[in-house]
Amino acid sequence: MDGFVIIGAGECGTRAAFALREAGYGGAILLIGDEPHLPYERPPLSKPADTGVPLRTITTVDAMETAGIEYCQGVSVLACNTAAKSISLSDGRMVRYDKLLLATGARPRQLACAGASRALEFRTYSDADEIFQRAVDVRRVAIIGGGLIGMELAAVLRSKGLDVSIIEAAAKPLGRAVPARFAERLHRVHTEQGVEFFLGRGIAEIGDGFVLLEDGTQVPSDLTIAAIGVVPDMELAAKAGIATGNGILTDAYLQTSDPNVFAAGDCAAVSVNGAAPMRYESWRNARRQAETAARNMVGGNEELVSTPWFWSDQYDLTLQVVGLPALAESGAVVRACPNGELEFYLLDGRLVGAAGLGLGNAVARDIKLAEMLIDAGVTLDASALSNPDVSLKDLLRATRSAAA
Ligand SMILES: Cc1cc2nc3c(=O)[nH]c(=O)nc-3n(C[C@H](O)[C@H](O)[C@H](O)COP(=O)(O)OP(=O)(O)OC[C@H]3O[C@@H](n4cnc5c(N)ncnc54)[C@H](O)[C@@H]3O)c2cc1C
Repeated sequence: MDGFVIIGAGECGTRAAFALREAGYGGAILLIGDEPHLPYERPPLSKPADTGVPLRTITTVDAMETAGIEYCQGVSVLACNTAAKSISLSDGRMVRYDKLLLATGARPRQLACAGASRALEFRTYSDADEIFQRAVDVRRVAIIGGGLIGMELAAVLRSKGLDVSIIEAAAKPLGRAVPARFAERLHRVHTEQGVEFFLGRGIAEIGDGFVLLEDGTQVPSDLTIAAIGVVPDMELAAKAGIATGNGILTDAYLQTSDPNVFAAGDCAAVSVNGAAPMRYESWRNARRQAETAARNMVGGNEELVSTPWFWSDQYDLTLQVVGLPALAESGAVVRACPNGELEFYLLDGRLVGAAGLGLGNAVARDIKLAEMLIDAGVTLDASALSNPDVSLKDLLRATRSAAA
């Protein structure tokens, strides 16, 4: 078969398959995924309801058939020959392509301590299903890693009444992606809920019923989970001679060093406007990059334009972060909102990021408006942003009428 082939049937690969049709591509589309399910959403895995881990599918067999997408389920791509424009599959087939999209995602970073294999990983539906089934019969859970996934898991398991410990090598949890005010607030909430933190300490060994820290502390654990981040899945690309770095390297069009091969989603490190390649591990990024890559695969000439955005649910709180808070030149502008709090981040008077933490959907509307203000690229007054009586909608309206 010659046509377009997509490797990886996660959020990105699946969205790309449909986006190819939406962009008018009429040829064959083959979507190959090595997991034994229909494509599914990952975010619900770490936020399951009492009824168990949901397999929330992204699409159906019927929808794929209707769109003329051939889905190869439970099949791995073993190698890619870019000179021959062909790939070899674990079912013995060799498939030729006109254009290829690498949407291979990311895989859990491996622990390096003694007994590392005793810790369960958390990335796939199968991982989540095993962990939540085992959680029924245990009392003490140790989660290694105080990032977003580790903290979400801790919230769910603590809410089920388990004794939960978080072991984190850094001095604070959530240090990487979450602005300090909200990281501290979430840390406090977890502590109030009874989660025990072991911070600033490495792991010497994972044993049967315990995790031994480098300072000699023994953390009792009937179930140990590793949530220490992910690494981009770029082995296939690297072996095929495609340029890699902190991910599969692409330009702003999502094109790799091979003009017939594109990459998008968690596996891709994208360089826009000559900036250093950036990788974003988030749901919306996977979808936005899928759509841009698909349009460019069918002959478009579209640079990636996407404001980063992610959310996290912990207990009854939702965190949302939009834009790039780390670009801020000085302290954040703080604003109260009903049942929540917001922070805005400015660079040369322009909004470059915003974050909010609140009960349920308390900050969702303001974060959406903040995103529109970021995209408008206008200069904003910090005192207006901090004043809850000045509506963000009015600020947006004012910037639009000034631009008209
Ligand atoms: C538990 C969890 C919770 C999350 N929660 C949030 C959240 O609240 N908010 C948010 O914004 N983001 C969240 N994310 C992140 C978000 O889900 C990911 O960024 C997104 O799924 C990335 O999509 P992707 O398609 O690029 O990669 P993936 O979803 O990893 O899909 C890649 C697929 O490719 C397959 N594959 C790899 N190599 C091959 C091969 N050689 N052959 C065939 N198939 C292959 C993989 O098995 C996988 O199925 C969460 C992620 C996880 C794991």
